[in-house]
Amino acid sequence: MHHTKAYSAASAASPLASNTIPRRDPTEHDVQIEILFCGICHSDLHAVRNEWSSVMPTVYPIVPGHEIVGRVAKVGSAVTKYKPGDVAAVGCLVDSDGTCPQCKAGLEQFCPHLTLTFNSPDKHLGGVTYGGYSNSIVVDERFVLRVPSNLKLAGAAPLLCAGITTYSPMRHWGVTKGKKVGVVGLGGLGHMAVKFAHAFGARVVVFTTSPNKKEDALRLGADEVVVSRDADEMKK
Ligand SMILES: [Zn+2]
Ligand SMILES: [Zn+2]
Repeated sequence: MHHTKAYSAASAASPLASNTIPRRDPTEHDVQIEILFCGICHSDLHAVRNEWSSVMPTVYPIVPGHEIVGRVAKVGSAVTKYKPGDVAAVGCLVDSDGTCPQCKAGLEQFCPHLTLTFNSPDKHLGGVTYGGYSNSIVVDERFVLRVPSNLKLAGAAPLLCAGITTYSPMRHWGVTKGKKVGVVGLGGLGHMAVKFAHAFGARVVVFTTSPNKKEDALRLGADEVVVSRDADEMKK
């Protein structure tokens, strides 16, 4: 075990504060990543404020963050896909049982025994997992992703949650040229959805309550922007 700097909240009413947290030393299958960037997802805020207490009560202190990009610092002896110096990323999951039908089908996100990146039982150190608002993280290589070297790393971080959340359904439903995609809300996920749908060649219509987001929507690739508080625009 070693320690690293992190930002944590001590209670649902506390701001984030600088702190020190334990991380396991890499086992043979682990990758230790020096974190360079971590996106801020609204799920981080929900968890910090304990707004999901009925389904997933927050254990304090909490270190949020699941849009992680960094550089590989160390790898375990059995790691084959990464070496020190590689750029790597971690999203919402850091482990699963690896043996259930969902895992065998490559759908680890449906594993009944998955480990989330933060606020999830930590089977190595006990307590709960700590997320990406920290200097370093240790993750099984099965849950580490490669980042192409042509991407700007700060901009790539939100792909790990907001990006995959919008990319996955659009791929599933075959968004392509000739299709029309409506994006409701131009926020963390919405702006990613606009960029993906535009890149896939679809016609993109953004619905927003904020007229002042119109320019951004068009700049990001929307073909049309509907202000949803405007009855006439909605009727059209
Ligand atoms: Zn998220
Ligand atoms: Zn599983």
